[in-house]
Amino acid sequence: MFSVALFVTGLFASPAAYAGVVKDVVSSERTITVKFDDIVNKASVFTLAGPNRIALDILGATAGKQASAGGPVSNVRQGQFGPHTARIVFDLASPALVTGGQFSADGRSLTIKLRRAAVGEWANALARGRMSFLPPRLFRSKPPKKRYEVSAPIGRKSQRGLPKIYGPSDPRLPLVVIDAGHGGHDPGAISPHGGIYEKDIALAVTKSIRDALVQTGRIRVALTREDDRYLVLQDRFGIARKMKADLFMSVHADAAGNHTANGATVYTLSETASDREAQKLAARENKADIINGVNLGGADASVSSILIDLTQRETMNVSADFAKLLIREAKPNMRVRSHSHRFASFVVLKAPDTPSVLFETGYLTNARDVAFLSSKEGQRRIGQSVASAIQVHFARRLASR
Ligand code: ZN
Repeated sequence: MFSVALFVTGLFASPAAYAGVVKDVVSSERTITVKFDDIVNKASVFTLAGPNRIALDILGATAGKQASAGGPVSNVRQGQFGPHTARIVFDLASPALVTGGQFSADGRSLTIKLRRAAVGEWANALARGRMSFLPPRLFRSKPPKKRYEVSAPIGRKSQRGLPKIYGPSDPRLPLVVIDAGHGGHDPGAISPHGGIYEKDIALAVTKSIRDALVQTGRIRVALTREDDRYLVLQDRFGIARKMKADLFMSVHADAAGNHTANGATVYTLSETASDREAQKLAARENKADIINGVNLGGADASVSSILIDLTQRETMNVSADFAKLLIREAKPNMRVRSHSHRFASFVVLKAPDTPSVLFETGYLTNARDVAFLSSKEGQRRIGQSVASAIQVHFARRLASR
């Protein structure tokens, strides 16, 4: 199963003081060298496909900025995967295998050995899982005592880090989690008409949906983010799962090379995309945090697709039913595309037990869509459409029980 809860814990914790900072990362034809300004605790490396990449987790480290690509590595990115773990992702121009690795005698640098993969070797590398490296014992940092756990208010421990619930207090009423896409350092798409960011449109629309739902007095609602912050994809649906949400919706706005493309699209999860465009969009949205969101499509990619097959069929049907409803309710209020329900493999929709849709509310590349999406009236109409679709959805679910 996916251990989503793990990602949610310590969501907003800041990096610990015991962490050494990643000073430099250099990749070449046969080696990757990572240097630290202080000692760290442990490192582990694993390989991922689609796109092909190597991920390196360093426990007791804080991500830095300095990095250079070379050899089979086309690009290097660093990010903070957890409060004590830096993740470095190496995008591969061609498949390459990690054949070994070692910390230096003073624990201040790690060298990983690389070899370009021959035909057939790549699949084995993917199946292998993590390879771990420890610094010499004398130069190994120790994790700090978990002081922050003691300070959590008694009786609210399970809710720690989870967002506020708006609307009625009756816990039997359905709970919807709305996720404003992107945020923080990830702006999403940027409009050529006025430079508006997708993250800001998504947040404004999300709040309008929340307000419309609260007005119904029958639906409870929570938002994954209420300000301009960055959340990894797993945390977004992780919040919905942890809160046992009855429905999860991620709100976005699209972009296209063709500036006449316009209207809303609703996406639901499928391992096979309904068309090339849907596939490309999913690749773009999923890329938002390959650094942090690497796990789900990760070392056990083959396992996760089987799990999706077995446990998600029912969830996917419910999601698809809701998508149709949403389009029906949106049509009188806003522009929707002709093939308005599509399928693709979005990481953010992969909670196996929470019906989930991704709502692309319109095109930031289309002048009329931008005007609509950034206006109070447009946002209000979207909020109304979603709220009425959600009401009908739960009324039907109750009736069919
Ligand atoms: Zn987006």
